[in-house]
Amino acid sequence: MAFVTRAVKGTHDLFGKPLAYHRAIVDAARRWTEAAGAAEIATPIFEFTEVFERGVGPTSDIVQKEMFTFSDRAGRSLTLRPEGTAGVVRAYNEHGMKVWPQPVRLWYAGPMFRAERPQKGRQRQFHQVGYEVLGSDQAELDAEAVALSYHILASLGLRKMRLLLGSVGDPADRERYNAYLRELLAPHAARLSEDSRRRLVTNPMRILDSKNSGDRALLAELDVRPMLAFLGSEAKAHFEAVRARLDALGVPYEVDPSIVRGLDYYVRTSWEIHHDELGAQSALGGGGRYDGLSELLGGPPAPGVGWALGIERVALAMEAEGLSPAPLPALDLYVVPLEPALVPRALEVASRFWPDLRVQYALKARKPGKGLQEAEKKGARFAGLLGPDEATAGTLTVKDLETGEQHTLPLEEVREWVGKGGRA
Ligand code: AMP
Repeated sequence: MAFVTRAVKGTHDLFGKPLAYHRAIVDAARRWTEAAGAAEIATPIFEFTEVFERGVGPTSDIVQKEMFTFSDRAGRSLTLRPEGTAGVVRAYNEHGMKVWPQPVRLWYAGPMFRAERPQKGRQRQFHQVGYEVLGSDQAELDAEAVALSYHILASLGLRKMRLLLGSVGDPADRERYNAYLRELLAPHAARLSEDSRRRLVTNPMRILDSKNSGDRALLAELDVRPMLAFLGSEAKAHFEAVRARLDALGVPYEVDPSIVRGLDYYVRTSWEIHHDELGAQSALGGGGRYDGLSELLGGPPAPGVGWALGIERVALAMEAEGLSPAPLPALDLYVVPLEPALVPRALEVASRFWPDLRVQYALKARKPGKGLQEAEKKGARFAGLLGPDEATAGTLTVKDLETGEQHTLPLEEVREWVGKGGRA
């Protein structure tokens, strides 16, 4: 029975307080991104594997070893989405959004899947909120995206975060940087981890992201020049423009000259937001510009910039800073039938108040004292006693469980009193 009694390793049921965090984070993301004019999009949870192979990049860790890939009944290769951007860009192309007024701003929230080793802050199913702006390469949009990712976190009350901003340059700059890294590291290949020896051939920049301690020690010894030193004039001018816009917006950031992101599609602006109290998995989120991605996915040129925040990580950071989400909504009213024959009437009364009030009713007749106790246990603010007199008169005897105040009122007045939360 072991396989039907527990969730798969690295996946979690989401309810109670973690769900309240989750909601607060998605609500904040919705508020800020929709304020900037974004529309919500929900893309499928699985796509043809090529979308991610081409979109995220064949040399990325995600594609190399972290995808949940399976065959459908016709033998086509499908993959559970490991991130949101590739699917959004696929949708932009598929629905001809290129002919909409540009740029198109989209936001999303939902589960992502990566076959990673589970640990604190790292799951196999996790959740992200994300934002994508497609159809323009103006620096204002990079600054807008960075600012939104920052404001969402700040609006949740987070203070101990650092926004690290860098640039991975244009593709030609990256090629020059990779050539430099290859030359620098090749003589030391024997000391590199197996993964990094592979990266030395396919994409040396990936080595800079390695978590392997031997790799890290070697990199520290070699005094590697950062990506930022290899920017061409256009990428450099773009980076300066983004910085100027962010300075004007008052968004605090540190320039990180060596930022490299784990996805192959990024060009130019890249950023990550880290939290000081999260330990090894400190990234709350990150983003960047991906001007060539649409073409990689068979679409028209459509430069874009976007980010994703890891919801579980943001929740851990909020917890670490002592920030509680608004509690999940409690019951407004608990209706207690005092006789068995009145149970159906209790359902009717409750349903009269939905959806304005959150109302539940007892499924069995209760004595008044027991009914009030039950209402308190359920966390209801008010209890409504329903006896034969109330049923005949179309009233309810309602008690405010906080103040003890009690009135027998017609249902419409109950709606008003309870709706005001007990303020008469
Ligand atoms: P990425 O798309 O890799 O830049 O991820 C964006 C954010 O998603 C990260 O900064 C994390 O906050 C979060 N994230 C990525 N992978 C995981 C995971 N396996 N478990 C939990 N959160 C994750």
